[in-house]
Amino acid sequence: MSEVHFDRIALIGIGLIGSSLARVIREKKLAGTVVVASRSSETLERAHALGLGDSYTTSNAEAVRDADLVIVSVPVGMSEKVAREIGSHLKPGAIVTDVGSTKKSVFEQMQPHLPDTVHFIPGHPIAGTEQSGPDAGFARLFEGRWCILTPPADTDEEAIARLTAFWLACGSMVDRMDADHHDRILAIVSHLPHIIAYNIVGTADDLETVTESEVIKYSASGFRDFTRLAASDPTMWRDVCLHNKDAILEMLARFSEDLSSLQRAIRWGDGDKLFDLFSHTRHIRKSILDAGQDVDVPDFGRHGAVLDAGENKSDPS
Ligand code: NAP
Repeated sequence: MSEVHFDRIALIGIGLIGSSLARVIREKKLAGTVVVASRSSETLERAHALGLGDSYTTSNAEAVRDADLVIVSVPVGMSEKVAREIGSHLKPGAIVTDVGSTKKSVFEQMQPHLPDTVHFIPGHPIAGTEQSGPDAGFARLFEGRWCILTPPADTDEEAIARLTAFWLACGSMVDRMDADHHDRILAIVSHLPHIIAYNIVGTADDLETVTESEVIKYSASGFRDFTRLAASDPTMWRDVCLHNKDAILEMLARFSEDLSSLQRAIRWGDGDKLFDLFSHTRHIRKSILDAGQDVDVPDFGRHGAVLDAGENKSDPS
C-alpha cells in the first residue's frame, strides 16, 4: 500500500474537478473507498453511471462520515454551506481540503465551522477546462500542472506532507503559499484573462455593424481563442469575481491604465512603443512553453487535452 493511500475519501461536488479526482484516485488506487456527494440527484445518477465512486449520496454530512480525506469541489460561494453541513460529522484526524479558485474567502467561509480535531488545508489545482459536470473530467487533468496549498501557519506538517503526496500521485507539482498571495497571483494569471474574455466576447456580440455570423465565420483571426475562456461555467466565474473582489479590482485598475497607454500609442502612431510591447509579450509566451505549461502547436495546443477528455469519457476507470 502506497504512502498516499487513504482508507476512505469523500468527494463533495463531482463536476469537472471532482470527477477528474475520482478518475485519478481510481486509476492510481489512492483510496480503499470513494464516497461521492453532489447537490442534485441528476448529477449523482450521472456519476453513478460513470462509475466514479463506491457509494453515492446527496447528503454532504453522510458523505464525510469516517472519511480520512475530504475534498470539497464546489463553486467557491458554496463553501460555507458545505462546511456548516459537514463540520460536526468529520472524523477526528481527517484532512479536509478544497479545490476552489479563491483561497482567502474559502478559508474564511469554512474554517469557523470545522472542528479543531481535523486538519484543514485549502488547495487549488491550476488545471481545468471550460467544461463542467461529471462527464467533463479526465484522469490526466492534473498531470504536469501546479497545485497550490495555502495552509495557515499552525497547520500540522505531517498532514501537509500527506496531502502533498496525494497531489504528487495525481501527477501535479505542489507549491505552498499564503492565501492572500495566491489570490493576487490568480487575479492576474486567471481571473483577469477570464474577465477580459467575457468582456470582449460580449462586446463583439453587441456590435451593431457586424453580424453574428461574420463574427463566427472569421473568428479564427483571434476571437475564437477568447471564446474558449468565455465559455467557462457562469456560476463558477460569478463566484470567483465575488470572492476575490479586492485583488481583481486592483488588477483591473492596472490593466485599464495600461490599456489607456496602448490606446494613446495607437492614436499617436507610436510604432516603437507598440513594437516594444509586442516583442516583450512574445517572450512571455516562449517562457510558458519552456516551462511545459503549454505546447507550441496550432490551436494553442488544446487538441491534446480534448482528445484526452474524450478518451476518458468512455472509460472513467
Ligand atoms: P462544476 O463542474 O460546475 O461542478 C460543481 C459541482 O459542485 C457539481 O457536482 C455540483 O453539484 C456541486 N455542488 C454545488 N453546490 C453543492 C453543494 N452545496 N453540495 C454539494 N455539491 C455541490 O465545477 P468545477 O469546474 O468542478 O469547479 C469546482 C471548483 O473547482 C470551483 O470552486 C472552482 O473554482 C474550482 N476550480 C475550477 C477549475 C476549472 O477550470 N473549472 C479549475 C481549478 C479549480 P450539482 O451538479 O448536483 O448541482
